[in-house]
Parts: sequence; structure tokens; C-alpha cells
Amino acid sequence: MKEVVILSGKGGTGKTSIVGSFAAIAHDKVMADCDVDAADLHLLLKPITTETHQFRNGQVAVIDKSICTECGLCRDLCRFEAISANTVDPVACEGCGFCFHLCPIGAISMRECQAGEWFISDTRHGPMVHARLGIAQENSGKLVALVRQQARNLAQENGLEYIIVDGPPGIGCPVISSLSGVNLALIITEPTLSGIHDMERILGVCEHFKVPAMVCVNKCDVNEENTRTILEYCKARGVTAETLIPFDNIFTEAMVRGKSVVEYGEGRVTSKIKNMWQKVLSKLNEVPATSP
Ligand code: SF4
Ligand code: SF4
Repeated sequence: MKEVVILSGKGGTGKTSIVGSFAAIAHDKVMADCDVDAADLHLLLKPITTETHQFRNGQVAVIDKSICTECGLCRDLCRFEAISANTVDPVACEGCGFCFHLCPIGAISMRECQAGEWFISDTRHGPMVHARLGIAQENSGKLVALVRQQARNLAQENGLEYIIVDGPPGIGCPVISSLSGVNLALIITEPTLSGIHDMERILGVCEHFKVPAMVCVNKCDVNEENTRTILEYCKARGVTAETLIPFDNIFTEAMVRGKSVVEYGEGRVTSKIKNMWQKVLSKLNEVPATSP
């Protein structure tokens, strides 16, 4: 089993269009949408959900008001100031359980906190695992790890060879969760100063986790000097950066019609994306498989 994650430093780089195109091109694969904070791959793939599961993460205190004597002890001693008017604010509560132990009449219980949901779905391009993090929930790294593990289980159960992971933007905890242990990272960047900076930071994380990386420069003709800088930087670090995609409205047009670029039409961009998937496959063939 081989797992490739597609990353970009921020939204709007064309990553989802490219991931959606890979979904349309690749065979024998499971899609995993790990952008759990702001998932948008479903807009392209229009999944039909077959399984919904709760994602539980930590605990929260709950006061039984029918027996609470309103002594105020829990409110005074909660160091997270999560209790007022004998009510626990579930966002502020850290689930430490201190109030549960100190309440003299046992009016407080600790309950598991539902932090989101994850789904297994069918799409026109095959199975997909995706998730939605609850409002004000922060532990998206844990949910990303769960989505990846479920995608691996699904691939193994169905004898599928590849997992294509749509990674979260940035370089925070969710990105680290989406990168650790994958066989290859494909970074989509743009030739802007912030794009170069983001790419350097993601490549640093890849190096740290010893994940081989490839770089694709989207809208490469918008600033050719910056594109050259990216290519030189990648060459100096031994990173493959062959795919240069020129600016093309097909990205927006296809997205508006709910299609991936390769489904929407043939053209110079379409052939670049198809070639890029072949390069990803060759690179994946060079690295050892991951055990599920
Ligand atoms: S310590 Fe117990 S009884 Fe006192 S206010 Fe808190 S929940 Fe109510
Ligand atoms: S569990 Fe801890 S953080 Fe939550 S309300 Fe009780 S004392 Fe405060």
C-alpha cells in the first residue's frame, strides 16, 4: 500500500482541483480528505455517505442542576474559569475532572465530548474517507490521524493499492499528522514570495519526517523569476520539481461546474496534471510500501 499526501501552504493554490483530478485519473485508490477544518474536496467529488461515525475527543464536566446546592465551590476552584452560574462552558472546560472529585454531593459527572464526525462515502471515482471537526474543536491533528487510519483500513479491506490524501493547509499539527509515515508528499505552490516561504517550511517538515517530496508550481508563468527561484531551491535540496502548470481559467471553470480539471476538458493543463500523476506513481514505485 502506498500513500501520497498533497499539500499547500494555504488555500487557493489549486490543490483541491489537482487532488480531484488525481481522483479521476488514478485506479485502485482510496481518497482521504484530511482538511478537516475546511474540507472542500466534497464539492468536487460529491460523496454519498455510507457510514457516519462520531469522533470523541476528551471529556467535559456536566453539572446535574437537580441536585446541585449552588455552593459555588466548583466555580471558585476551576482554574480554567469554565464554570459560572452552576453551568460548565464546554469550550473552556479542559476535562481535568477536578470539579468532579471535589463536589461534596456528587452533582458533577464527566462525559465524553463529541468533537466531530468522520464518514466513509462513495464517489464517482471510488471510496473516500472524510471528516468534519465540531465548532470550536481544536484537536484536528487527532482527527486527521483517524481519517488516515480509516483510509488505510478501507484500502486493505478492498485490496486497493493507493491512498491519495488531500492534506490540510499550513504547517501546523494537522499537517504533521497528515505527513508522518506517508510515502510521498506533493507540494503545490505558487510563484509568490509567500508561496516560496510556505513551500520551504513544508519541505522542512518533510525533511524532518524523512518523507520524500515533489513540488508542483501552479500558475508558473505569473512570475517566472519566482518560479526559477523555486526550481533552484528544490534542485539544491534534491527535491523533484518538474511540473510547471501555467495559469489557466480551466481551474475556476471546472470548479464552478463541480468537476475536476481532467474531467472538464482536454488542454495543456490537463495533460500536465496527467503527467504529474504518472510522475507521482513512478516515485511511489521507488519507495517501500507502508504496512497498514
Ligand atoms: S460543587 Fe457541586 S454542589 Fe457545589 S456548585 Fe458545584 S456542582 Fe453544585
Ligand atoms: S473538569 Fe476541570 S476544567 Fe472542566 S469544569 Fe471541572 S475543574 Fe473546570
